[in-house]
Amino acid sequence: MNIRKNIQLIKANLSKNICLVIVSKKQSNNNIIEAYNAGQKIFGENKVQELIKKKEELPNDIKWHMIGHLQTNKVKFIAPFIDMIHSVDSLKLINEIDKRAEQNNRIINCLLQVHISKEKTKFGFDIDKIEETIEETLKFKNINIRGLMAMASNTSDKNKITKEFSLINNLFKKIQNKNINLLSIGMSSDYLLAIQNGSNMVRLGSSIFGKRK
Ligand SMILES: *Cc1c(COP(=O)(O)O)cnc(C)c1O
Repeated sequence: MNIRKNIQLIKANLSKNICLVIVSKKQSNNNIIEAYNAGQKIFGENKVQELIKKKEELPNDIKWHMIGHLQTNKVKFIAPFIDMIHSVDSLKLINEIDKRAEQNNRIINCLLQVHISKEKTKFGFDIDKIEETIEETLKFKNINIRGLMAMASNTSDKNKITKEFSLINNLFKKIQNKNINLLSIGMSSDYLLAIQNGSNMVRLGSSIFGKRK
């Protein structure tokens, strides 16, 4: 795998308004550095322990995004530095992020994860709870809700994926404003469909680094 080349090829096909988050879970520091040296500064991880270790070992100007399910008791470990949390899926978690952000004198960027697939294994708010949740978060001074995140069903059925993405895109269009302007949908297998359905933040791992072991 030529990581630099993969990044260049993908970036050449992403329009400028689309943010690329490179998913570095399970990747060696060497691989991540190769992506970094190709100009990439935003990396996504899904496990707190792995994230903290990499944060300590890798360049300081990397922006780390938490994209995996986050337990409330682990928020304190990432609150000092995390650039964005994509996987905000409960009010309890929102409370905790706000509290820990305040202790660190920070405002933490968050995306609300929306449950769009019917799969039981995926986390997130129900789609009809998002607007009231955004209302409720207005009182929290140390979190900044920047948009929505979701994962489509793990299927090759493009119609199904498109249906799920268009559900969240319709909601996104409804709530979108100057500050709530990020729609994080699309992984290696479905990011082109995601972009057709309004995505402006894609999270790519295997299309950059090759299949994960
Ligand atoms: C692993 C992961 C990705 C990237 O998946 P690829 O198929 O390797 O691109 C994106 N989003 C989340 C939440 C993930 O856990």
